[in-house]
Amino acid sequence: MIKRFVYLDNAATTKLDEDALEAMKPYLIDEYANASQPYSFSRKSRNAIGKSREIIASAINCLPEEIHFTSGGTEGDNWVVKNAFFYNKNKKIITSKIEHHAVLNSAKRVEKWGGTVSFLEPTNLGLITKEELESKITQDTSLVSVMMANNEIGTIEPIKELARVAHANGSLFFTDAVQALGKIKVDVKELGVDMLSSSGHKFNGPKGVGFVYIKKGTKIVPFLDGGAQEGGLRAGTENVAYIVGMAYALEKSLQKIDENSEQLKRLEKEFFASLNTNGKEYVVNGGEEKIPGLISISFKGLDGEALLHLLDLKGIYVSTGSACDSKRINISHVLDAINLEEDWARGTIRISFGKNNRIEDAKYCAKELSTILKLL
Ligand code: PLP
Repeated sequence: MIKRFVYLDNAATTKLDEDALEAMKPYLIDEYANASQPYSFSRKSRNAIGKSREIIASAINCLPEEIHFTSGGTEGDNWVVKNAFFYNKNKKIITSKIEHHAVLNSAKRVEKWGGTVSFLEPTNLGLITKEELESKITQDTSLVSVMMANNEIGTIEPIKELARVAHANGSLFFTDAVQALGKIKVDVKELGVDMLSSSGHKFNGPKGVGFVYIKKGTKIVPFLDGGAQEGGLRAGTENVAYIVGMAYALEKSLQKIDENSEQLKRLEKEFFASLNTNGKEYVVNGGEEKIPGLISISFKGLDGEALLHLLDLKGIYVSTGSACDSKRINISHVLDAINLEEDWARGTIRISFGKNNRIEDAKYCAKELSTILKLL
């Protein structure tokens, strides 16, 4: 019997959109010129980068020159957080306890360099409230960094309110929008953020490419010194094909954002409708407002890693909520921060549907998980 293949880990990465691949191909094969050369052979590559910058700028409502291409979300997060320290060594950085490690470990690096960092506590739903920020922010804060949507539990943060508090206290505001862009509407002007990071492979673009929005006039040190690419802020020969693929995939996902979101919610509903936990107690983590298609589910007394491997045997790919970095071994820093009891946290899996998933995938996953739960 052919083993089914049901990929349900779209929060980790997504399949490259085939039309995006077609858009990339010319720049991988025939149009391979270095985009920075003055001769006519470079024109197409240079124009393709310019067009991609315009597409992305229009997608998040900013100016094209405010977009800086990077190698992905990790790079953008490192750049912005460490930049805050370079410019204001005596001021503090505020971030949350539930950020991706790209932000958290950049903040911890700043601490090692002698900087001061405060970590905001989330509520049990994973929300970073305005009140929590108000309790920690002081006039000597250089940067507040809070993610737009959490990658483990999907909670969408009140970015607009948080940015307002940051600005009222003379601080810049940065948001890691890696999980949000392509799934929920993002308008940097409406939100009032100064900087934002994103990554192509989370919305069916290629891996290894992303961008940072940096509001015009914001003081920023170059991330990479070298040539004059990206306004002199991020040197290195441009990855033309990948930039084109990312812009294409983003534009495509935004054209169908409402339709995709409805479909992802239908998949979630179908999963729960078809799930028979056979008496096993469970909780669904995260807030009321969350990224569509992401389910973080915890089963009391079970082992999330065992569930992952048992589903793997059925051709279903999900992830756990664990990363061995916390004081409670095998419990993710996010589940730890939202105070999920150890007994539950250990039994957590994350299912993240994507645009290629169908109702049958949700049903199949629920059916196989039900069988596993019955046996355990
Ligand atoms: N930030 C968040 C919230 C993420 O989910 C991820 C990836 O999982 C990253 C940053 C890192 O992005 P990249 O894989 O492009 O470096």
